[in-house]
Amino acid sequence: LPQIFKEARPIIKNLEQAGFKAYFVGGSVRDLLLKRPIHDVDIATNAYPAEVKRIFPVTIDTGIQHGTVTVKYGEEFYEVTTFRTESTYQDFRRPDHVEFVQNLSEDLKRRDFTINALAMAGSGEIIDHFGGITDLNNKVVRAVGEARERFHEDALRMMRAVRFVSQLGFTLERDTKKAITENRELLHHIAVERIREEFLKLGLGPDSKDGFSVLIDSELIEDLPLLAGKSSLLKNYLTLNFFPTTEPIFWALIIVLIKLTNDEVRAFMRTWKNSNEVAHQVQQIVECFDIVSERELTNRELFDFGVTTLASTIDLADILGEPVNGVVLIDRYNHLPLKDAHELAVDGRFLMANLGIPAGPRIGRLLQLTLDAILAGQIKNNQKSIAKYVKKITSVV
Ligand code: ATP
Ligand code: MG
Repeated sequence: LPQIFKEARPIIKNLEQAGFKAYFVGGSVRDLLLKRPIHDVDIATNAYPAEVKRIFPVTIDTGIQHGTVTVKYGEEFYEVTTFRTESTYQDFRRPDHVEFVQNLSEDLKRRDFTINALAMAGSGEIIDHFGGITDLNNKVVRAVGEARERFHEDALRMMRAVRFVSQLGFTLERDTKKAITENRELLHHIAVERIREEFLKLGLGPDSKDGFSVLIDSELIEDLPLLAGKSSLLKNYLTLNFFPTTEPIFWALIIVLIKLTNDEVRAFMRTWKNSNEVAHQVQQIVECFDIVSERELTNRELFDFGVTTLASTIDLADILGEPVNGVVLIDRYNHLPLKDAHELAVDGRFLMANLGIPAGPRIGRLLQLTLDAILAGQIKNNQKSIAKYVKKITSVV
């Protein structure tokens, strides 16, 4: 048993000693059987949150209304959730109200896919009520019970299904896929943030090509924000040989594939509820990519984009098969006379004090022209050559 389970086992033991039932559940059991790395182990129990809190000295109320208490044990944190059903679905979203139940099988029944509906007792015994082990062996994502019903309860599950195809390298069971095609419009009831999270996991999964293939085949792609009508363009994803490894490169790739103009990029990123930081990075990469696919970057552009954007752009060009010599670009960047405006040998105060230029916006313009001249190799980055250069251009600027 992996260390992470051994460390968590006392939690199960403690709950059992207090007279409760407790099991490892969900993704950790699936990943254990798949021999995949396990990032967090979740525990399900028939103890109520208040009872869980009485048993463990250090707990955090992370989601009491959903029955979840975070237990600190040793140096680790574990989510302990009371067995529950989610009987009252509304609006095709998971309910904010849950009902606690006494047995594990009720809890497993509400889970999305058979491979996620496995549990493991403290003894290591696996509990599999829905054929999850068979599906793991056959590498199949299959809804628990009637797929259509399950997607009506929570439409996000359709995205999760395709995400697991990409993450695990599985195929989508036929009826589950059919139910996606027939119910795909329900995705519009789901918050974009939640769709984004699954789409991103799909895009960064090791089998993202298969994920995209299913997304297109099932037509679910038509219900993703701003991707309706773009499936013929997105089919080009299936012809690629390399795939994105970071969030900004993933978004930049999608944007280039669907041929957005620079002006449309911002709105696209905003509609997908990306953070300003990610949106900005993506905008920079797309802009830089547009230039490198046309012509050489100037030194000033190398300086302005910076090494992070350059590296991402080179990766994007590789993915798209665009002939860009990344080694040369990075080498040119490394040989720039300066990498940051702070490295300029003078500042505004120097121009005012030594060259008698009055304060005002003109100072900023002169500094920018100085920076241009240094980056273009026309002058050296020292006070003497800058002073000489500025004196010369003050007559025209
Ligand atoms: P990951 O490796 O991404 O964490 P996971 O399977 O653990 O994958 P989580 O979102 O962490 O996914 O959810 C934990 C478990 O909760 C799942 O394995 C599944 O049993 C259940 N679950 C999560 N989301 C849903 C949902 N939308 N509908 C039904 N069950 C769900
Ligand atoms: Mg998880």
